[in-house]
Amino acid sequence: MKTEIVRISGEEPDIQALRYCGSVIREGGLVAFPTETVYGLGANAFNDGAVRNIFTAKNRPADNPLIVHISDYEMLSGVAAFNNEEERRRLIALGEVYWPGPLTMIVGKDARIPLSVSCGLETVGIRMPVHPIALALIRESGVPIAAPSANASGRPSPTKFSHVYEDLNGRVDVIIDGGECSVGGESTGLDLVSKEPTVLRPGAVTKEDVMVVLGACEAYDWKGLEGKVEKPRSPGMKYRHYAPAAETTVYAGTQAAVVARIQREIRKSVGKGLRVGVLATEETKKLYKEAPVVLSLGKMGDSHAHAERLFDCLRTFDAQEVQVVFAEAVSEDGVGDAVMNRLFRAAGGRIIDCIEED
Ligand code: AMP
Ligand code: MG
Repeated sequence: MKTEIVRISGEEPDIQALRYCGSVIREGGLVAFPTETVYGLGANAFNDGAVRNIFTAKNRPADNPLIVHISDYEMLSGVAAFNNEEERRRLIALGEVYWPGPLTMIVGKDARIPLSVSCGLETVGIRMPVHPIALALIRESGVPIAAPSANASGRPSPTKFSHVYEDLNGRVDVIIDGGECSVGGESTGLDLVSKEPTVLRPGAVTKEDVMVVLGACEAYDWKGLEGKVEKPRSPGMKYRHYAPAAETTVYAGTQAAVVARIQREIRKSVGKGLRVGVLATEETKKLYKEAPVVLSLGKMGDSHAHAERLFDCLRTFDAQEVQVVFAEAVSEDGVGDAVMNRLFRAAGGRIIDCIEED
């Protein structure tokens, strides 16, 4: 398949180009487009065949549902079928504060949305993105757009056009080149169907943010879930995900203990002839001179920068043909919870607590 590349500026979106991309979606094609979180791979959410093509293009497991993207509240009516008034109240209350934005809310599904979107579930994840290209694309297509992240399944999510091109060129109809994504991590996945609202996938909107609006919120303990979820309520839970090709291990503990431990691991691996990569911070990156590839997530404690850079760093390790990655754990406060969740999954759950020693 020949993939068309359409360049659109985020500052002054070209309406003609967007109208064209919208018609591709409406007529059953696949279009990759930028959002504020990551690039998405979109199809007309009402078109079962088009939605199935997303799974093929990405090689996505058939039990990992897609998010339905809307541009205004009028579009909600063909997508959501609320189970009760409380569910509707929660969505509207949160939407007032966080829509458009990086929050996906899971509610009852309208019958117009095919089961291929929800992977057989009677619920649907809905989001109104804030990125001007994403919003205009949905508006111009005139239909809700079902989309997962626009990466080959299992690889880190794409936060730049080049990432999407790498994974999907020749497999989709159109890729919009609309620059870099500002948030970086995927949207928060929030279940509003359960008795208590529950964060299934951490993201830029935190459990604490939801509590302020709804008065209560639970969160899945993602550290305890690895390998244990049979039928995932939120797909990210089940798979080794976001992963670079290199075997990745995360080291946690005091800065001194972590640095000393990673320095030792570098020496061991270099001794075995392996090409080593280190995921560090601005403050620590100079301490790993023996590793050929050292990438920085940003300043220590700057979780927003970490979220924005993580996936690009993981892809850079692949591009640099790194065989083994040692990553420093970062702050889990606020958005940091989402960053550590992705890093944990990239490492297939391998986190080592480092103990201080002389
Ligand atoms: P992606 O954006 O590629 O990570 O994929 C969409 C994600 O949205 C899934 O991995 C789930 O975490 C979440 N999601 C979408 N629909 C549902 C749903 N009905 N129930 C639970 N999670 C959902
Ligand atoms: Mg994804």
